[in-house]
Amino acid sequence: MVMGRITVWVGSKIYEELKKQNINVSREVRLFLKKMLEERGVKIDEPEVVIRVKCVFCENEFETSSITQAKCPKCGKTFRIYTKKYGSRIREIVKGSREELFKLYYRMKGKENAQNIG
Ligand SMILES: [Zn+2]
Repeated sequence: MVMGRITVWVGSKIYEELKKQNINVSREVRLFLKKMLEERGVKIDEPEVVIRVKCVFCENEFETSSITQAKCPKCGKTFRIYTKKYGSRIREIVKGSREELFKLYYRMKGKENAQNIG
């Protein structure tokens, strides 16, 4: 399975500024690359799903396009979006549909968990 994760070297100054400004780098880079490929005539039809989740540690709600784990911009802690024991942390699907969310989750985690998320 192709997961599509890449690591990008940005240097410490850019890194610190991105942290300070609380920028969702994955999302920004993905959008940039998508646009660049579209300009080259490649159509990327991967569903863009954005969800609003509630932080397990400080109850802060925020949006993320990650469906497996999220880092809270307020307290900086990382938690899993769905656990067998505690269920889903999703409050709302901001962009995309339940079906797209299931499809993404299915691709990443397998069939058995797909019904329980969302
Ligand atoms: Zn938090």
